[in-house]
Amino acid sequence: MLSISEIKSLLATPQKIVITTHHKPDGDAMGSSLGLYAYLIQMGHHVRVITPTDYPSFLHWMPNNSDVIIYTEQKEQSAALVADAALIFCLDFNSLGRINELGELVRVSEAYKIMIDHHLEPEDFDDYRHWNINACAAAQLVYDFIVNELNDVKLMNKDIATCLYTGIMTDSGSFRFASATAEVYRIAAELIDLGAEHWRIHQLVYDNATENRLRFLGHCISSKLEVLREYNTAIISVSKEELAEYDIVTGDTEGIVNYALSVNGIRLAAFIIERTDKVKLSLRSTGDFPANEICKKYFNGGGHRNAAGGVSEKGLEETVHEFKNILTEYKTQLLQ
Ligand code: 5GP
Ligand code: MN
Repeated sequence: MLSISEIKSLLATPQKIVITTHHKPDGDAMGSSLGLYAYLIQMGHHVRVITPTDYPSFLHWMPNNSDVIIYTEQKEQSAALVADAALIFCLDFNSLGRINELGELVRVSEAYKIMIDHHLEPEDFDDYRHWNINACAAAQLVYDFIVNELNDVKLMNKDIATCLYTGIMTDSGSFRFASATAEVYRIAAELIDLGAEHWRIHQLVYDNATENRLRFLGHCISSKLEVLREYNTAIISVSKEELAEYDIVTGDTEGIVNYALSVNGIRLAAFIIERTDKVKLSLRSTGDFPANEICKKYFNGGGHRNAAGGVSEKGLEETVHEFKNILTEYKTQLLQ
């Protein structure tokens, strides 16, 4: 394990650094990564952000986005950068399985690995850990890492603030989840003082849908929503054919599960989607209902108590059927 003073002395001279984040990066994955990137480049380090896969176009406006390398598109270059790095920052994930093929490359790299994360049950692959499950976003922990651990508030700038604000905004459901504490609001205010244009960031992330995406959302709500009152559960499931019909691309399905959760009385919502090779589940819950437990136990996944995901190797209909069967096991908790 490294100490923070050892990290400070490493960062005192220019280093080769890789920042990576989870598969199918979301606003927090990209916000925390590009926020840390903007901090490290002004110190003169040679830094690259490598994502395991592509990510939604509504995140492409972020500062320094054009410097991001997507592993699936540039495998050789990514592997060389990982092998050659002195430091690898692992942001918004804590098990190497979450970064696909990159995981093995990171594991065998001789670089020091620094985990900055807020998910449960971290795997033991890191040399330094800034980890707190009570943080609303990895971006909040990057802020804390720069300002409080490295004592570098003087290096905070508009680009860093813009990226970190994006991560905090998206992972806290626009500051409405319980994780958005008074401290989170204070950090957000600091970021706005540093130049984050909160109104513009919100617009770029949330008011950026294609016409197809909006029509697909309409289809999901009007034709696909199943409300199971006997379990206080709502399900939306969609097939490959429906995705093709509406020309749905990465990121277009983000947030649809929240509409199912917004029905009154619903404690658990599931968005079940048939991808090319597997079926993906996205679960959301309210209160203390453990959505992550269902994902871990039955769908080879995990996540947070109120936001979790997993996969199924079965077909779409069979997965929906299995999910409904699982609800019987949780009936008492769902009806509380
Ligand atoms: P989403 O439903 O937005 O895809 O994911 C919500 C949360 O669930 C993510 O932040 C992540 O923590 C977790 N999650 C989603 N999919 C998986 C998965 O396949 N495996 C694990 N371990 N966690 C997942
Ligand atoms: Mn996150």
